[in-house]
Amino acid sequence: MAQKEIKNPLILEIKGNSLDDGPGIRSVVFYKGCPLSCVWCHNPESKKAAVEISFDAKVCIDCGSCRDVCPANALARDNRFYIDRDKCTLCFLCVDACPSGALDRVGKIMAVDDILKKILPDKPFFDTSGGGVTLSGGEPTLYMEFTSGLLKSLKQQNINTLLETCGYFDLNKFMDMLYPYLDTIYFDIKIIDSAAHKKYCGLPNEKILDNFKQLYNTAKNDGKTLLPRTPLIPDITDTEANIKDIAAFLKNLNITEAALLAYNPLWHEKSDKVGTEDPYKNSKTMTSFRENTILERCKITFANAGISS
Ligand code: SF4
Ligand code: SF4
Repeated sequence: MAQKEIKNPLILEIKGNSLDDGPGIRSVVFYKGCPLSCVWCHNPESKKAAVEISFDAKVCIDCGSCRDVCPANALARDNRFYIDRDKCTLCFLCVDACPSGALDRVGKIMAVDDILKKILPDKPFFDTSGGGVTLSGGEPTLYMEFTSGLLKSLKQQNINTLLETCGYFDLNKFMDMLYPYLDTIYFDIKIIDSAAHKKYCGLPNEKILDNFKQLYNTAKNDGKTLLPRTPLIPDITDTEANIKDIAAFLKNLNITEAALLAYNPLWHEKSDKVGTEDPYKNSKTMTSFRENTILERCKITFANAGISS
């Protein structure tokens, strides 16, 4: 499927002082918009490449100010998501009127300079901790031109750069526009069976696996880090068969290091906030943290293939 270049990216959030998104202390730029649509997406608010409105029922004090100002009559207590998104025109009058912050605008257009202004004060922390800036999402490669400009500016400031990607991108553009300015790439390998990948992530995976193979050889020659990562999703990606398939795929490329990411069920709550139907809301397995034994089993499978994780 041809990928459409989107020139004006939406940024969800810039998070400072992160210790979880690469080495050292990092600032993380979260993009909004992704070509995949994984059913378990940890950031469901990042899926659509469009501005949205969110509602947090836990924070709402039911003062009614939002209902008073809404010109579209889109808000109602008897709506499970509170907002009728078919009626809502995204005027955001309700967001301005809400005293508790229960309503929020999700996604904003930011210029490279705006992002740098937020990030640069933390450069001393990057320098002393071996950290830098991580581009995450959503999917930063959805906005090649913008991301290239951002990475170039970060490199001009001598800042370490890391990209977290789902791997679904135009490899030629990636190599020309992003690769030269990246120090590290975290690349998701979720499911090896392409039909299952399409079922759970919205698209088949041939392009992703091909991109990974080609990128791995180049990165190795250039001394850059390309780390394959697998999020462990109950009975979807963490099955013995899928983990064995991923281990075999990586072993075939002589890869000896990968990351297995333990399941975090907290996305269910976020899904409600942006009004996304959650097919797993009644699944005990999908709404709970996973037993440690599953992670251990996956690690052993990787270790048996000579891969530390
Ligand atoms: S954004 Fe505007 S149209 Fe939508 S719910 Fe709020 S006030 Fe109503
Ligand atoms: S204005 Fe905010 S706090 Fe008041 S009812 Fe609306 S969402 Fe709830």
